[in-house]
Amino acid sequence: MFNNLSDKLDKALHVLKGHGSITEVNVAETLKEVRRALLDADVNFKTAKEFTNRVKDKALGQDVLTTLQPGQLMVKIVKDELTELMGGDTVGISLKSSPSVILMSGLQGSGKTTFSGKLANYLKTKKTKKPLLVACDVYRPAAINQLHVVGEQIKVDVYSEEGNMDPVAIATNAIAHAKQNGHNVVIVDTAGRLAVDEEMMTEIANIHNAITPDETLFVVDSMTGQDAVNTAKAFNDKLNFDGVVLTKLDGDTRGGAAISIKSVVNKPIKFIGTGEKMDAIDVFHPARMADRILG
Ligand code: GDP
Repeated sequence: MFNNLSDKLDKALHVLKGHGSITEVNVAETLKEVRRALLDADVNFKTAKEFTNRVKDKALGQDVLTTLQPGQLMVKIVKDELTELMGGDTVGISLKSSPSVILMSGLQGSGKTTFSGKLANYLKTKKTKKPLLVACDVYRPAAINQLHVVGEQIKVDVYSEEGNMDPVAIATNAIAHAKQNGHNVVIVDTAGRLAVDEEMMTEIANIHNAITPDETLFVVDSMTGQDAVNTAKAFNDKLNFDGVVLTKLDGDTRGGAAISIKSVVNKPIKFIGTGEKMDAIDVFHPARMADRILG
């Protein structure tokens, strides 16, 4: 995960690690390299600039140059700031209502259906919940079928309505069905398109307004870099979602989405997807991710 970024940051900070004492020039050069590494990882310019400025201020504030192990302290400052940038603390999902309703949003191919299954499986096994998966992608019969396959695999019920082209009605009926059948979590998988378009946005906003979910999650493919951040912005403007799910972190992703998304949309990353299998789901921990990135 993020191998390229980790290597570059390691190289940038290596210069300081070896020094007993360092100069302001060392710090400035290191931060320039850090910024370059972030930009190469597809972190947007403003985020990278603000990040290195904060590290610099903190380093000067803590008198890095006069401490015994300035290199170690610099690494710690970078790690702490990276953790903050990715949200600081872990933020869980809220499952207050009964049934609790979770709405999935995102583009086609982002991993919504897969993640819906993973989340249902996670809630079932880790939190002893009884989830219901709901297929609201009325345009692609294959997507409905895919959710049924996932449901069978993890032994979770799937609600769909053949021939009904109204996703708002399906979602509403599914919640009534959940109440009648003792499901305490309802996970609504929705239609996505290949790019943000008005019709899709209106449709998901209508579903959102009708079912008032406890959690609206935005699912995004981490491989899409800056596009991931722009798409997040568009969905957040429309839905004011509660959290982000970053998928495909097992791939050769550069890291920009993970690092920038929180600072751009001000919504936490709540889960990550790390593979195609149903157990490839993790709660997002900013500090652990910063550890991984910095090695
Ligand atoms: P949807 O169109 O948003 O519902 O996306 P899908 O759930 O159908 O996922 C699209 C593709 O990405 C499928 O081939 C999934 O198996 C794959 N996929 C989803 N999540 C992950 C992940 O975390 N890692 C990897 N490697 N593949 C994933």
